[in-house]
Amino acid sequence: MKAPGAAPMSGLKALGIYIHIPFCLRKCLYCDFLSGPADLEVQERYVQALCREICEESGAYKGYQVETVFLGGGTPSLLKGEQIFRILETLYGSFHMAEVCEISMEMNPGTADWEKMTAFRKAGINRLSIGLQSACDEELKALGRIHNSDDFFHAYRMAGEAGFTNINVDLMTGIPGQTPESCRDTLWKVVNLVPSPVHISAYRLIVEEGTPFYENTPSLPGEEQERHLFEMTRDFLRQQGYQRYEISNYAKHGFACRHNQIYWRRGSYAGFGTGAASLIENRRFTNSRDLESYLNNERKRTDCQCLSLSEQMEEFMFLGLRMTEGISTRQFRENFGKTLDQAYPGIIDKFCGQGLLQRRISDKGEEWISLTSFGMDVSNYVMAEFLLQ
Ligand code: SF4
Repeated sequence: MKAPGAAPMSGLKALGIYIHIPFCLRKCLYCDFLSGPADLEVQERYVQALCREICEESGAYKGYQVETVFLGGGTPSLLKGEQIFRILETLYGSFHMAEVCEISMEMNPGTADWEKMTAFRKAGINRLSIGLQSACDEELKALGRIHNSDDFFHAYRMAGEAGFTNINVDLMTGIPGQTPESCRDTLWKVVNLVPSPVHISAYRLIVEEGTPFYENTPSLPGEEQERHLFEMTRDFLRQQGYQRYEISNYAKHGFACRHNQIYWRRGSYAGFGTGAASLIENRRFTNSRDLESYLNNERKRTDCQCLSLSEQMEEFMFLGLRMTEGISTRQFRENFGKTLDQAYPGIIDKFCGQGLLQRRISDKGEEWISLTSFGMDVSNYVMAEFLLQ
């Protein structure tokens, strides 16, 4: 798998940038992300406020080189090509950008058209993440998605014609009405796309508080059935040559998402836009979620905290263990001045004995600890042991 960006030039430190676009045509029934409908005027004011934030804050990042950019939401593809261009132009004018920078954008198939697709590509987007969820129209309807499967296939074809080669497709298991047959049908259609996607994310549907699904929960596949769907997805993708490199993420060789790896490896990242979170050298802060004040350039930060050593340790464990490569015991020792077994006496051995964790020695003779396949399925249980007491 590709490392999260080559080493930055001339002593600069690596940085990932997240840009939040909090607009969607309509809320999906399961969604608790910071997003909602907005008219064109609000969208334009937001883009202006975003560009202003990027310019004004960039001074704090002079010692960094941007290795990855991720435009997420919400629905970034709701914006016009020219607005995406302006955001990226502002980034390039304000930051030291790596020569080969991964620039990803989330796309809702219900917002795609040829003009936008070509404009996004021209603006510099080089990785698309298209949210399909399911190729079954009844399931999409049950989720409250704005698109149907034809919209997705049309968007995917246009993306290829516009020159995108690095494309992720988002899928979901545990959808109301989903069966092993419909799940297999979706998987089959996705891996047979031309060209086949180089990356697939397969998330489990979680009913979050505050969503319409929470208030009025539809009939969902039972726990056993849902586990079966998830495992079926995992096995199918492995057979099709996708390497699972994180609990919910699969990629063809060399196409793991570099941006997400920065999160899981606790690299530095800066977030711009409402609700966007940053982690810079163990300092965490989050932008206020309030859209109105953001539009008026009255930005506020919340949750500013310098992480203590034990908080860093906790994050190192539960983020690192999400990845199939796991964590390096050497790195742990160098970061925290003690061995893993000293920090968590008996726990690693206990989970290894239960078949949930495994130790392995790399080609370089380094010891790594990772979740087994079974451990990944019950990762919450394992991670809980590494949380602060
Ligand atoms: S498109 Fe994505 S962000 Fe928007 S409402 Fe649906 S799930 Fe939420």
